[in-house]
Amino acid sequence: MKFNYSMPTEIYFERGAVENNKSAMLKLGSKALIVTGKSSSKRNGSLKDMTDALEALSIKYRVFDDVEENPSLETIEIASAMGKELKADFVIGIGGGSPLDAAKAVALFIKNPEINKDNIFISGKLESLSVVAVPTTSGTGSEVTPYSIVTVHKEQTKKNLGQRIFPVIAFMDSSYTDDLPYDITVNTAVDAFTHLVESYLNTNANILSDTYAEKGFALFKSCFESLIKKELTEEFREKVMLASMFGGVAIAQCGTSLPHGMGYALTYYKNLPHGLANGVLTVEYLKAFRNKEKLTKMLGIMEIKDLNGLKTIFDNLFKVHIKLTYEEINKYALSFAQNKNKLKNHPEDVDVKVIEEIYKNSL
Ligand code: NAP
Ligand code: FE
Repeated sequence: MKFNYSMPTEIYFERGAVENNKSAMLKLGSKALIVTGKSSSKRNGSLKDMTDALEALSIKYRVFDDVEENPSLETIEIASAMGKELKADFVIGIGGGSPLDAAKAVALFIKNPEINKDNIFISGKLESLSVVAVPTTSGTGSEVTPYSIVTVHKEQTKKNLGQRIFPVIAFMDSSYTDDLPYDITVNTAVDAFTHLVESYLNTNANILSDTYAEKGFALFKSCFESLIKKELTEEFREKVMLASMFGGVAIAQCGTSLPHGMGYALTYYKNLPHGLANGVLTVEYLKAFRNKEKLTKMLGIMEIKDLNGLKTIFDNLFKVHIKLTYEEINKYALSFAQNKNKLKNHPEDVDVKVIEEIYKNSL
């Protein structure tokens, strides 16, 4: 047996996490840039909890509240300029995966003034300012991953920034998700589920990542039931946030694979939310496996009989009405076939034909 494992984030998981554990931020400095989305963090209380905490700690702050879904490098540059002007010591991301990933990128850009949207992918390994993450969706696991996924308009795609930016602190309070609308709850939960799946059926899977993934599947057994019944109780919110964190810990070790890599085109060109972009491809991706051993074990943990059972669950949760032309399928498949980083995470050989089939049979 051989494995490497590193997960350096301090996690505070409880209702009231920011208020009860705010002193953990004292070591990070005296000026913070808060990076958040346009409105939800003002409605769900997360922004106010953080600004109250910073005021109580006498930490100065400014708020950048203009992160869009699937954040672009352009937005990251604008937020970074605010942080540089403030001379921020650390960056706090509050929101779904988009603000959290943007906060990581901003922390990198502030620390390295020579970096900009045109040279970031050829820059080598860089350090960043410290990042604090406050998730308000239960999906991406970004609060415990080193990844920052950004939209690169020049290349018409989404990409991992290619740096390792683990948040130093994650404040996880599921009360921020209590009023998350049903559709976003589903989309983000499906994202978390695909993280568990893609880490479990991954070239880099190891005993520790598998342990988290299996625990996540066990949680998803009841999360799927609650989602189907639309019983979004506090208990459900807590469970799915935990499952999402387990997914994050698992992909932090293993990376994601085909659904995530193939889904980026569906988000970029068809505007499909990230979780659905992965989810809609998942059943066909799973069918393509020749070795069914771990797949069978995974379904067994969730007490799902076979892939039709999983498909029925997905059909109950979401509908995707996008149709792809053959030209689009071919273009997306050829582009994904260049993504060697994602392909090497998939434990079996796949060629462009297999990728095209997954797109075709899914949509
Ligand atoms: P998101 O893009 O951050 O947010 C989607 C929508 O949800 C926004 O309209 C947002 O509103 C709203 N929202 C967020 N929290 C809410 C709440 N508590 N109540 C009501 N509305 C709320 O969604 P996401 O799915 O969490 O993140 C997706 C991004 O994460 C993608 O860019 C994806 O590539 C990335 N991702 C990253 C990782 C990683 O490891 N780093 C892993 C998977 C995915 P506001 O704009 O007003 O806040
Ligand atoms: Fe994801």
